[in-house]
Amino acid sequence: MDIDTPLKTVIRTTKAHLSKLEKMNIFSVRDLLEFFPRAIESTDIASDLQNIQLDTKNTLSGKLVDFRREKTPRGKLLGKAALVLDDNTTVEVIWFQIPYVLRNLKDESQVFLVGKVERSYGMIKILNPEVHLQKNVHVGTLRAIYSESPPITSKWLREKISGLLALVSEFPEILPSQILKKESFLEKSAAIRAMHQPKNSEQWHQARKRLGFEEIFEVQVRILQEKILREKNTINPYRIPLDAQQVKKDLSLVPFQLTTAQKKALYKILKDFEKESPMHRLLQGDVGSGKTVVAFLASLPIVRKKFQVCFLAPTEILAQQHFASAIKFFPSEFSVELLTGSVSETKKKSLKSRLKNGDIDVLIGTHAVLTEDTRFKNLAFAIVDEQHRFGVEQRSLLARNNAHMLAMTATPIPRTLALTVYGDQDISVINELPPGRKPVITRIVADPKTTALCNKFIDDQIQKERQIFWVCPLIDESDTIEAKNVKAEFDRISNEVFPNRKVAFLHGKMRPKEKDRVMRSFRNKEFDILVSTSVIEVGVDIPNATVMVIENSERFGLAQLHQFRGRIGRNDMQSYCFLVVGKPDDAQKTRLRSLEKSHNGLYLAEIDLKLRGMGELYGTRQSGLPDFKCADLNNVEMLQKARDWGQAILQEDVTLKKYPKLKKHIDQKPVYF
Ligand code: ADP
Ligand code: MG
Repeated sequence: MDIDTPLKTVIRTTKAHLSKLEKMNIFSVRDLLEFFPRAIESTDIASDLQNIQLDTKNTLSGKLVDFRREKTPRGKLLGKAALVLDDNTTVEVIWFQIPYVLRNLKDESQVFLVGKVERSYGMIKILNPEVHLQKNVHVGTLRAIYSESPPITSKWLREKISGLLALVSEFPEILPSQILKKESFLEKSAAIRAMHQPKNSEQWHQARKRLGFEEIFEVQVRILQEKILREKNTINPYRIPLDAQQVKKDLSLVPFQLTTAQKKALYKILKDFEKESPMHRLLQGDVGSGKTVVAFLASLPIVRKKFQVCFLAPTEILAQQHFASAIKFFPSEFSVELLTGSVSETKKKSLKSRLKNGDIDVLIGTHAVLTEDTRFKNLAFAIVDEQHRFGVEQRSLLARNNAHMLAMTATPIPRTLALTVYGDQDISVINELPPGRKPVITRIVADPKTTALCNKFIDDQIQKERQIFWVCPLIDESDTIEAKNVKAEFDRISNEVFPNRKVAFLHGKMRPKEKDRVMRSFRNKEFDILVSTSVIEVGVDIPNATVMVIENSERFGLAQLHQFRGRIGRNDMQSYCFLVVGKPDDAQKTRLRSLEKSHNGLYLAEIDLKLRGMGELYGTRQSGLPDFKCADLNNVEMLQKARDWGQAILQEDVTLKKYPKLKKHIDQKPVYF
């Protein structure tokens, strides 16, 4: 047995436990040992009642006597007993649910109870305590508290992890020894052990700090190494000097004034084209901030040199949208083409051969472009829209041409995260919207009265020939449930809420062609309300849609919600976003309130990062960002330290030959950008 052994072969447990573990992405011994507690608590035995801290959890030890069952006046069953401590004082014990161990317990058994201690009417009581018959991993110690998803409880985890903890020695130490020494870090195995079974709370915090450092350090080394090697090994075959006069003329091709942020981003890109190594830049800007036109303008110097541009979009409909704008934008001497999955085989063949001959200047397309047989004559500039929707491999297919890469995203990336995952130099942010946009008026809908008002309002909007997006949450990542959910909401809305309006639906299970058909007819105003899940068609332009309803909005991150509402308010019409909450829970509402007040995606993302942490920020699995368990991204000092160390190690040895364990680890996992 080693840490990569599948869990189900080493622990004895139920099917329900195993299937929940899988849902939690825990498959191997390693995964379980790396499932860290979110906190720790002491179950040291209170020595006397005089000095006990009331109204908090305490651990008491003594003899349990007089156990009995009693019915409350309302008919609820309670368990009651008295606990006689060593000094003969007595504590009253009350259980709301009678623990299993009590069934066969003899009177005067020695027990340890862990529960909240209160004083009422002069009597000390312990409420609903856990019962332990001896000291173990739960009692008389500092114990771990995990995020629980029933049936996986902290108790279950403590016991199973305790049985496997000897295997911590197998975790490779990837931190170079000089770092461990200089920073006085715990060794990896000691740190993992201390996360689950710390000797004291200081040790637990040390462990967490060290593991958090490692997470960031690892990402730093990975991105810095990638960058150094890229810049060292590739020359820029497409060096193009910036021609300021020409840029001025180009700007006049656009029917509006660029915002200052757009101009800055464009300038950065054009400056990058002059450099010795190819550009590798991320362009981040809120939905509607005008990234596309920046990419188009940057393409002009490329096509003028008779080099090629490729612009990739994640969906067919977005590609078509970009194609339509591109045809309008590029002067007629340049040939602009569209290659997507729905193009016929004959057409594809002819497009690919023209591409190879250099007869196409700008190719716009989807994943369909990224096949082995696509050859460019001289691809100099690759633009990837909504970059997180593409895999790393797919992006690198484009990079093999040594082309300049521009990835675009509407996902706001907090500064600390940008520094961590991207390195800060290669990011441009468009942080303003074009003038004249009215911020989307956003309201929380939490009660039936507001719901009724909201529905009335929506009906009025439809009367004014406006259209409505209706977003349902993705309850599960499985497509079937998604489809069912959308279908159920569609039935409810079309039959009960708006029986006189035209409603359609869209979900991930539908075929791309079918989705396109629905989106197109929505754009052509063939129906009023589109019910869909959150995952689809991020950047689609439906200028006439002025209302968005988001169901169960409390399940989403603020940044995500902000991205959704960016689909409306894309012109000068006033738009509205209704955040419907499942259960009006106050804490959630204060979080959501910031959406009513702020329209700054970056600011909202930073709130999310503070309140909910990395994992919740974008639904990490979808975003392709690393999944930090211990690292605190709000700790800028730590980020800087990890970055400095990463730089120092790579400066000494960029290939990491001297650090085989680190090298092996780094080589295993992908680069994020
Ligand atoms: P996104 O950044 O979400 O991809 P788009 O590039 O789709 O945004 O731009 C949204 C809309 O705003 C487009 O219709 C575009 O023509 C328009 N637009 C872009 N920049 C400006 C600007 N500076 N002034 C006015 N309208 C603009
Ligand atoms: Mg866009």
